[in-house]
Amino acid sequence: MMTQLKRSRIYDLLKGQSDVTIGEGVNVKGWVRTKRGNKNIAFIALNDGSIIHNIQVVVDVSSFGNDGLLKKITTGSCISVYGTLVESQGQGQHVEIHASDIQLYGTADPEKYPLQKKGHTLEFLREIAHLRPRTNTFGAIFRLRHALSFAIHKYFNDQGFYYLHTPIITGSDAEGAGAMFRVSTLDPKTPPLTENGAVDYSHDFFGKETNLTVSGQLEGELGALALSNIYTFGPTFRAENSNTTRHLSEFWMIEPEMAFYDINDNMDLAEDFLKYLIGYILEHCPDDLAFLAKMYDKELVERLNFVLENDFVRITYTEAIEILSASDASFEFPVKWGIDLQSEHERYLVEKHFSKPVILTDYPRDIKAFYMKLNSDGKTVRAMDVLFPKIGEIIGGSQREEDHEKLLGRIKDMGIHEKDVWWYLETRLYGTAPHSGFGLGFERLMLFITGMGNIRDVIPFPRTPLNAEF
Ligand code: ATP
Ligand code: MN
Repeated sequence: MMTQLKRSRIYDLLKGQSDVTIGEGVNVKGWVRTKRGNKNIAFIALNDGSIIHNIQVVVDVSSFGNDGLLKKITTGSCISVYGTLVESQGQGQHVEIHASDIQLYGTADPEKYPLQKKGHTLEFLREIAHLRPRTNTFGAIFRLRHALSFAIHKYFNDQGFYYLHTPIITGSDAEGAGAMFRVSTLDPKTPPLTENGAVDYSHDFFGKETNLTVSGQLEGELGALALSNIYTFGPTFRAENSNTTRHLSEFWMIEPEMAFYDINDNMDLAEDFLKYLIGYILEHCPDDLAFLAKMYDKELVERLNFVLENDFVRITYTEAIEILSASDASFEFPVKWGIDLQSEHERYLVEKHFSKPVILTDYPRDIKAFYMKLNSDGKTVRAMDVLFPKIGEIIGGSQREEDHEKLLGRIKDMGIHEKDVWWYLETRLYGTAPHSGFGLGFERLMLFITGMGNIRDVIPFPRTPLNAEF
């Protein structure tokens, strides 16, 4: 009869959202975090990943006979428990389960299973990325990652944006956002060659050179110039050898693109969007946030609330250079108009000078991409970067150049072949419109939301130079 019971999620039982009430039969399944007790009674802390907390399973040892089952239930093993839901005597939990029957799905040899109770370093856990989802830390992070993804789709859907799927394999290398990974089916040992001895990609799978995308923006613009407001949310790839705590070779990016938005509308959207996401997580994920705050970053919740409650500072690049030049901080990279700001500069502005998120606009055109709209000074473009405490750049965006002549001029200046972007240029010939957009790095936002220090710890299976295990 017991085995007819439907499995209850531990989340529902602990939150009092279950159909099962006190005194009724219940079934839970999950992984054993700890087992303690004596020869009369055993306490098993069981976790099924639905919530950070464990449910306590109480076992009357004598009623379990002598078949050695309890001995085999050790940290890491997987079990199914049938029993009665009862009010808990212990503190910190409302309910627990008095077990009447336990089925053992899988053992975990205590001599070998690497996640014994003692704390582990994040470095060690990266080496066992196949098992780290079973830790409290990574359970919390991956549940937050889910909630944040959901909130992103909800925000845009509520605002009338359409989710556009842009390609992962791209035939254009004009995005200019970074070095790319080649996609090819040619035999690397004996590729067909041209008369000049170069690899002849006309024989490759797509009849041309193709790569993994660094950004969905160019295709996103095509969507915006038809559907008005679109967003993308997908993986992007950068073959850069930047071994930092803020760069991945494969990361997820959210790229909204809006017709009829100028740069100010773009900034308003970016600020509203970020605040919505932070507010969503504070409201919906308090348990996971509290756990990460306790373990890693005492000021986490305070910092999230601070960003939520304060206006972002908006200044131009030129004003930022003036502030940095006038400061007595010593920077590794000297400050002068025209430089690409380094993370030390960005963090000085955000953490020391303003103590608030900052949006920088109107960057020198020579350090920005070809598609950004030129200002009337002829020197700066309508770019906007959002800088966050602890992270630096979290968003990069701009108003786009909608004028065909000017865009073509920039493309030629930058040595981009017209034939590679003919389709992009045509949107400026047929019904062009002012439009804007930005890219938000999903894992950069995850760093901010979780308080974690290394971007490798906010994605399940990080890809970084020399690392593609799992
Ligand atoms: P950075 O200067 O920090 O290297 P970028 O200027 O190359 O970034 P963009 O091309 O503007 O970045 O990309 C848009 C957003 O994508 C960035 O604001 C950031 O949030 C995120 N991002 C960029 N590169 C990476 C990366 N290698 N790993 C994770 N996120 C990234
Ligand atoms: Mn950028």
